[in-house]
Amino acid sequence: HGDQALYQAKTEGRNKFYFYEKTLTEHMQRLILLENHLKQALEQNAFHLVYQPQIELATGQLIGVEALLRYTHPTLGAVSPIEFIPICERLNMIDEITEWVLQEAARQLKDWKEKGLHIRMAVNISPLNLENKTFINKLISIFEKNHCDLHDLELELTETALAKSIEEVSKVLEKLREIGVRIALDDFGSGYSSLVYFKDFPIDKIKVDRSFVKEIPKKERDIAILDSIILLSKRLGIEVICEGVETEEQASYLQMLGCEFAQGYYFSRPLTKKELENKYITTNIK
Ligand code: C2E
Ligand code: MG
Ligand code: MG
Ligand code: MG
Repeated sequence: HGDQALYQAKTEGRNKFYFYEKTLTEHMQRLILLENHLKQALEQNAFHLVYQPQIELATGQLIGVEALLRYTHPTLGAVSPIEFIPICERLNMIDEITEWVLQEAARQLKDWKEKGLHIRMAVNISPLNLENKTFINKLISIFEKNHCDLHDLELELTETALAKSIEEVSKVLEKLREIGVRIALDDFGSGYSSLVYFKDFPIDKIKVDRSFVKEIPKKERDIAILDSIILLSKRLGIEVICEGVETEEQASYLQMLGCEFAQGYYFSRPLTKKELENKYITTNIK
């Protein structure tokens, strides 16, 4: 494809050729810069976590946070996880990175609990993590070491993660639930959503993709789909949270549809540890 595009660009004129060649090179240079630095990013403290609140619609109460990984490259600046996570997966670094995230999340969970804030912590994991036989034992030891309760942990998996092999993945998920970990299906509806996930996977929660939330209450189809997902989940005893809630109107409409929980910019952007404490920890002693 690259050659063909280059040929087309060449025949279409000099300017376009230069333009194309430059962006291609830039793209590769960026990738090389990222790969080289990511390999040492853990030692260089180039990662940190931010935490996005998850809210109970009826009460407005904070029930938990989703930990979201942030990475800063020395010259490129902040890079999105959408860009760097796949690179880490390709470089076989994702186990190490997830371990770091879990360690950091556990430490924070314990810290907040000591400050009187007892909430759930959701962590995103890669499908590759589940393939690693040592994953569960590592997880247990991280939580033991930090004196944390595995019942406060929720692992978020995307549908594509589950597409691999239903039996294999189910076994791992069952084991995780046995040790108290909750399982959330992330971005539900964005991929090849199948009712099989409801039928055969041991899940505790689904996170409805923000594409379904975006156009409510305008788009009647989206409302019908949301309504059905919420109903089905309730029948199965599965918790529902809607992602990407950006307006008051969306929040109240979702509540009317029977959705219990929500996450999105309307309630809060992802916050640093400090920002979250300022917003949610009210100290009497000052
Ligand atoms: P996700 O797990 O679906 O996370 C939600 C994403 O939506 C976050 O983007 C969040 O900042 C964004 N978001 C939250 N509320 C709103 C809203 O109201 N409107 C809009 N437009 N966006 C909203 P972020 O932090 O850039 O993360 C992107 C993706 O990167 C995540 O999607 C997740 O798949 C992945 N990711 C993030 N952290 C980690 C991690 O520690 N490990 C792994 N494996 N993946 C991660
Ligand atoms: Mg997530
Ligand atoms: Mg999501
Ligand atoms: Mg996502």
